[in-house]
Amino acid sequence: MLKRLLQINKNLSEKLFDKGASTPTQNAKVIGESDHGINRADVSRNAISVIEQLQQAGHSAYLVGGGVRDLLLGSKPKDFDVATSATPEQVSEIFRRSRIVGKRFRIVHVRFGREIIEVTTFRANHTQSEGEGDAKQSEHGILLRDNVYGDLKSDAERRDFTINALYYDPTTRELLEFSSGLEDLQKRTLRIIGDPEARYKEDPVRLLRAVRFAAKLGFSIEAATEHPIREHADYLSHIPSARLFEEVLKLFLSGSATATLTNLRDYHLFQYLFPSTDYCMENGSDFDREIVFSATVNTDKRIRQGKRVTPAFIYAAFLWPALQASMRHLMHDKKLSALEALGQASQGIISQQLSYTAIPKRFLVPMREIWDLQLRLPKREGKRAFASLEHPRFRAAYDFILLREQAGENIEGLGDWWTKFQTADEETRQSMITDLGRGQPRQKRRRSRRGRRGGQNASANTGNAGNSPTDSGNSGGEGSSPSS
Ligand code: ATP
Ligand code: MG
Repeated sequence: MLKRLLQINKNLSEKLFDKGASTPTQNAKVIGESDHGINRADVSRNAISVIEQLQQAGHSAYLVGGGVRDLLLGSKPKDFDVATSATPEQVSEIFRRSRIVGKRFRIVHVRFGREIIEVTTFRANHTQSEGEGDAKQSEHGILLRDNVYGDLKSDAERRDFTINALYYDPTTRELLEFSSGLEDLQKRTLRIIGDPEARYKEDPVRLLRAVRFAAKLGFSIEAATEHPIREHADYLSHIPSARLFEEVLKLFLSGSATATLTNLRDYHLFQYLFPSTDYCMENGSDFDREIVFSATVNTDKRIRQGKRVTPAFIYAAFLWPALQASMRHLMHDKKLSALEALGQASQGIISQQLSYTAIPKRFLVPMREIWDLQLRLPKREGKRAFASLEHPRFRAAYDFILLREQAGENIEGLGDWWTKFQTADEETRQSMITDLGRGQPRQKRRRSRRGRRGGQNASANTGNAGNSPTDSGNSGGEGSSPSS
């Protein structure tokens, strides 16, 4: 498809329309099917159905955004977005299975089984606004509400990047362009629409979107678009933590997490999402950097393989270096046990992180469980290994052990042990457990509370590649309760 695109500017069947605001394609370049090359059959049937129903009801409606962009690039779109002249209320009247969502930016979700088509009403510039309350700015110039409706042309100007502002009409099979989207696609260039500084200021999330699209598409960022990113990275500190969490999902769970992380760090944006991780990556050990990058590499690989990925795992890995640093401090200076240190450290790390990205509870709980199991999986004597195997978070915690090892931590073959144990027959499992005790000094079963604490600290701080307080070797003698 890119080859075809290279031809487009040469033999563009450019028709300029200028019949006033009532004309749907005001001043757009109109590109015919043979030139743009989008195959209508590649568009979601549900998206086409939404567009057709809106058009039949007398509204204009187009496919826009990532769906059009990705089809032109010859890749499979993640989802399909529709832009229309109909207001959210009009859209929701037409579709029974629809819901108006969002306050800052109202859109309609039209549901077809598992597929959701996002329908957005054409937006306008706020200076053109007549309606109060539809547009609102914060003291920092950020748009707190962006619900001023306009026409197709103004909508194109309100979109973020030129490559995201191409409109496809499945009825006429024509592509409409208002800026340099097609040429930028050919040149593999990300270019923001309008004045870059102003556009980043009114919505700093565009800073994140710029580095995300550059990473995902392998595009270079055009100079004027790139220039303000580092300088204005701090705009991100004014974005609500709930919105930043949603962006984190897009940044790290869309298959290009590794390239995105590199970009985020290069452009000094990462510190506004994961300050403690960024600090550890800057000032910590090789392991601190490795575990974060290993987590993104593994996540990208799982997505390529069509496997499930969860933010809980990514968060567990990203926050691990800071958690370990905090645990080390609590165990050395405050003389806490590994288990106590884990409890306190995780509370502190999580509450700091929540003020940056609001992680919902449904991800926080499994993240904590992955961490807790890092103390539990080294203890395998008696029935402990069998009990851990039954834990609902065992698989993620086991993957996390492998991740720690992959990042260079020495956990005395714990990953291999669990790999073997999972598939071994009953007899082998028993002998694996029996073998654990061999060569280990016998631990006293009962110790005083003071004695137990002393013992934990002594055994839990054996330095290694990761210098991790959670490493307990095979001894199982840390004293932290497996039922924690
Ligand atoms: P993806 O493949 O990640 O879905 P996308 O470009 O479709 O990429 P969406 O977040 O689905 O991204 O947004 C759909 C479209 O809405 C974008 O292509 C863009 O035109 C517009 N858009 C989204 N967010 C913004 C924003 N913050 N500012 C301006 N336009 C935006
Ligand atoms: Mg999209």
